[in-house]
Amino acid sequence: MRTQIKLLAALTPVLTAAGMVGATLIAPTAPAYSQSLGKIVGSAKKVAEAASVSDEQIVAYFGQMSDEMDRQNPLAPAKNPYAVRLAKLTKGLDSYDGLKLDIKAYLVDDVNAFAMGDGTVRVYSGLMDKMTDDEVRCVIGHEIGHVKLEHGKKRMKLALQQDAALSVAGTASSGVKRIADSELGGFIQGVMNAQHSQSAETASDDYALGFMAAKQYPQTACATAMDKLAALGGGGGIGLLKTHPDPAKRAKRMRKQIG
Ligand SMILES: [Zn+2]
Repeated sequence: MRTQIKLLAALTPVLTAAGMVGATLIAPTAPAYSQSLGKIVGSAKKVAEAASVSDEQIVAYFGQMSDEMDRQNPLAPAKNPYAVRLAKLTKGLDSYDGLKLDIKAYLVDDVNAFAMGDGTVRVYSGLMDKMTDDEVRCVIGHEIGHVKLEHGKKRMKLALQQDAALSVAGTASSGVKRIADSELGGFIQGVMNAQHSQSAETASDDYALGFMAAKQYPQTACATAMDKLAALGGGGGIGLLKTHPDPAKRAKRMRKQIG
């Protein structure tokens, strides 16, 4: 009930604005008017709901997405060599920069990694095959950057505004809304496959360099990780290349930053 009241309150100014626009159109173009009003009300509803999504709710959505990703992808069991290596190279990284981290490996042969806004970090075995420990650390630092700089959160809000997903997100479960299971797969696809902006990527690269310095890992590993990505070339099937800008340019820029 409270949600409905909040939603109506948020809608009122938008409806008023739409009414004003409508007044000039109303006589000759009534059908067009009602159509556009419907459109405006529809998107206003999504925007109003997205605007009212709390940080806590966003983290809950990320948690739900992380759980679903872990259901869809094989997590390396604790004694698996990938899990052992990853645990070793991320020793002491239970948290960083105030963010609680849960770093695990997927046994998936793709050069990929991601972080969710709830602090979940997943590194694919295909990436670990190609990269040294320090290069993996730089990729993790970059992913932490996306979380700390709230790029994922912004993207999530955008997805909630643009996607019809939120219309199915109203199922209350212990006070926290959930994205309907039937919609979750598509929603994850949308959020995971969308690219961050160039400036967000640059900011995350800088964050990674800061992370490497803070942890006393060699910053040059960031540049060599990019070299390796560049050498993999545009085959199209590589996760990190699909979602990230030209690695050769990133390597060049990072080398300049390192000096
Ligand atoms: Zn990135």
